Amino acid sequence: MRAAILTIGDELISGLTADTNSAYLARSLVELGIAVSSLSTVGDHPADISRELDRVSSCSDVVLVTGGLGPTEDDVTKQSVAKALGLQLRLDPDLHRRLLERFEGHASATPEVVENLAMIPEGAETLPNPVGAAVGLLVRVGDKRVYILPGVPREMEAVFETGVRPDLLALPKTEVVSSRLIKTTGLRESAIAGMLRPAVKDIQASVGYLPRLTGVDLSLKATACDEGRAARILEEATGKVLAVLGRHVYSTDGLEIHQVVGDLLIKTGTTLAVAESCTGGLIGHLLTEVPGISACLDRVVVSYSNSAKVECLGVSEETLKAHGAVSRETAEEMARGVREAAGTDIGISTTGIAGPGGGTDEKPVGLVHFGLAVGSGLKAHHEVFNGSRGVVKRRAAAVALDMLRRQLLDLKE
Ligand code: AMP
Ligand code: MG
Repeated sequence: MRAAILTIGDELISGLTADTNSAYLARSLVELGIAVSSLSTVGDHPADISRELDRVSSCSDVVLVTGGLGPTEDDVTKQSVAKALGLQLRLDPDLHRRLLERFEGHASATPEVVENLAMIPEGAETLPNPVGAAVGLLVRVGDKRVYILPGVPREMEAVFETGVRPDLLALPKTEVVSSRLIKTTGLRESAIAGMLRPAVKDIQASVGYLPRLTGVDLSLKATACDEGRAARILEEATGKVLAVLGRHVYSTDGLEIHQVVGDLLIKTGTTLAVAESCTGGLIGHLLTEVPGISACLDRVVVSYSNSAKVECLGVSEETLKAHGAVSRETAEEMARGVREAAGTDIGISTTGIAGPGGGTDEKPVGLVHFGLAVGSGLKAHHEVFNGSRGVVKRRAAAVALDMLRRQLLDLKE
């Protein structure tokens, strides 16, 4: 079964509003095991809507349309869809009565507005909208189904969840797609591709590479005639990828790296203190997103200046003078200092040059040193990140979290 998603709105094609409806619907369809063959967007223009609906419905079993269902003049979806499908718009008496009750006493709801909302293509079924006035519609054309949903994301989601998802779930499927994201750190796309090459020929699932700031996500997709078989193919493929990539994989269930690290801290009962310079509290922000982290996270010190590093963390003036604030030595003293002050199992630190200025040949923009103190032990690491100031901060936070994750896995073993 193939599905197409068509979103409608001048605000979408002019870039004023990001099309989040497509993403929501595509994710939901994939979850339901339905392959999405296209996403397309047109403005609030009858001819464009009719032409695009014609095009996508000719090669899809299911079409999901969102936007332009309101009662105002710029809402032309119902008329345009009806025209493309060769149907007339008719007043639905039941819907009209319900809307009249709903709008009783509302001065803004003129008889024309209510009537307009109650017009639906002949033969269409209405799908209740639990959070708004514009109902969804299902139009059947032979074996094909065209669902029309409101544009407001909250309403679109409510109509989808109550009216569309159960309907799609009940459809007999000749082909089911099962998918999963395997999230990795520490390897580039090309390195992963090289490592996976020998295994890929035995993997029945397709593998897509999705590079992000935190690492590369691998999208595994298994297609089969039923859910059980697709799930088995996916499990087998996941096992093979895990066997090759080992600890580079941090999650197979959608969790982000800070959630994985937070859960590991909580599960192992490990306490942590953080000393941040160039990441400016980002590591602390991410860890404090995790519910229950207060049992493990003692403090996050944002020590931006040299004097803060000396006063709050006990970094020595000599170290700063001899090696500079962005150095392995300073990173190590920051990690040790924060761990000792907090009395935690682990201390971790970042110090770097986020840019765009401040770099030298020896210490270029993007250079970040990391320190990790565990008991009396000290580990250091450094990297040079490409990108803007914000990108350097986000990459550095991800690498620090990954150091923590690997350390926690060592402690667990
Ligand atoms: P409409 O139903 O077309 O009148 O849309 C109402 C509002 O919903 C618009 O002003 C947008 O802010 C929002 N909206 C419509 N379509 C989308 C979409 N595809 N993604 C995100 N927001 C949308
Ligand atoms: Mg609109």
